[in-house]
Amino acid sequence: MTAEKFDAIVIGAGMSGNAAAYTMASRGMKVLQLERGEYPGSKNVQGAIMYADMLEKIIPDFREDAPLERHPVEQRFWMMDNTSHTGMHYRSGDFNEAKPNRYTIIRAQFDKWFSRKVREAGATVLCETTVTELAHDTRGKVIGVRTDRVGDIIFADVVVLAEGVSGLLGTRAGLREMPKPETVALAVKEMHFLPEEVIGERFGLKGNEGCVIEAAGTISRGMTGLAFLYTNRESISLGIGCLVSDFASTMESPYTLLEAFKRHPSVRPLIAGSEVKEYAAHLIPEGGYKAIPQLFGDGWLVVGDAAQLNNAVHREGSNLAMTSGRIAGEAIFHVNSRRGPMTKENLALYKTMLDNSFVVKDLKKYKDMPALLHTNSCNFFMTYPQLISQAAQNFLRVDGTPKIEMEKATTAAFIKARSRWGMVSDVVRLAFAWR
Ligand SMILES: Cc1cc2nc3c(=O)[nH]c(=O)nc-3n(C[C@H](O)[C@H](O)[C@H](O)COP(=O)(O)OP(=O)(O)OC[C@H]3O[C@@H](n4cnc5c(N)ncnc54)[C@H](O)[C@@H]3O)c2cc1C
Repeated sequence: MTAEKFDAIVIGAGMSGNAAAYTMASRGMKVLQLERGEYPGSKNVQGAIMYADMLEKIIPDFREDAPLERHPVEQRFWMMDNTSHTGMHYRSGDFNEAKPNRYTIIRAQFDKWFSRKVREAGATVLCETTVTELAHDTRGKVIGVRTDRVGDIIFADVVVLAEGVSGLLGTRAGLREMPKPETVALAVKEMHFLPEEVIGERFGLKGNEGCVIEAAGTISRGMTGLAFLYTNRESISLGIGCLVSDFASTMESPYTLLEAFKRHPSVRPLIAGSEVKEYAAHLIPEGGYKAIPQLFGDGWLVVGDAAQLNNAVHREGSNLAMTSGRIAGEAIFHVNSRRGPMTKENLALYKTMLDNSFVVKDLKKYKDMPALLHTNSCNFFMTYPQLISQAAQNFLRVDGTPKIEMEKATTAAFIKARSRWGMVSDVVRLAFAWR
């Protein structure tokens, strides 16, 4: 009797794995998907904003039954010091379009729904199954996997590694390096439950409208980091993340930062009276374009966070994960439908398609940005937010001091904190990285 062989095995049932498995199964390929969690989504953490276009390209009618929370109509960017925030708010009725562009989601529910679609498309999905190693033939080609369920190899023509940022299989197999502490952030997140109408009143929202707050400043205590607050239907997702290397060198704890963010006078009233039901911590790949590893080889491809495909500057990850998963599935289907072998040469099609997509184009555009923010973190996340707050107070307080003196005080504060040349150099480098 010969062992059952699959056209493709997908490791992981997150955004990228589900996209890859659905794309191949819906085209008639024989797909096995393996997920170590109790159910898809049980291990996954996201803010979470989900971008509709990327899911629409996989499941065009997803709005009919996907568990979507709210569609954001307002985005607030806050630069915070310890007692204030300086904000830029953008709100538009245009976001109330018939097919909204973004939704907040709860990954535990969303991943379950996505996985149901994968099964309906014909894939076999096994949860509570950890892939323990990749199996190779004598020439080093990946020919399948071993799991903690069965000792024997499960064979497949190709294996898609969608194991997320902390997946160990690719690194253990020598296909990519372990993410470095300076290229990954550690984020912590809580879910605060409040009645739907309270959320609506506090944020000025009607129906399924949502509000997003993203904040940087002294809340990350000089480290490169970002805090967020997203409204769901009956809950608020709130969290903060900083580079692992910064946590290691400052010995700050993520939990302490989150507590301070929640106590901040700008945040506390928004979550007052809420009940906290969930606490989660997860890594985020932040190395950008330069951290992308080898993406394909003989019998394997890597997608999503496992491939460091995450746009930290725009806080996008799930859309890059879904798109890389879809493109991997399409490339594999293309090779499969021509009865080609899943060699490195043939699977290079995945990289060509990915290079032509927004995924690599966007990461390439900001290739210097992560390094810039990381090396100048104290200026960007401590000095400037404090100075801007001070400038705002000097502008707004009326106490008989002549305006000219107020302006001089503001200029002097800036120069004292950071020399003219220091500021010019920061602005030029920021503009250069943003170009
Ligand atoms: C706090 C936080 C906030 C975020 N906010 C946003 C946001 O608002 N918008 C956005 O677009 N992105 C956001 N992201 C990023 C986004 O969550 C990721 O980019 C996305 O989840 C990556 O999907 P993935 O499928 O590659 O990996 P994951 O979703 O991590 O899935 C990997 C899966 O593989 C499974 N797995 C791992 N190893 C094995 C194994 N050996 N065997 C079997 N299964 C295995 C895991 O259990 C998991 O289910 C956020 C991330 C964090 C941490």
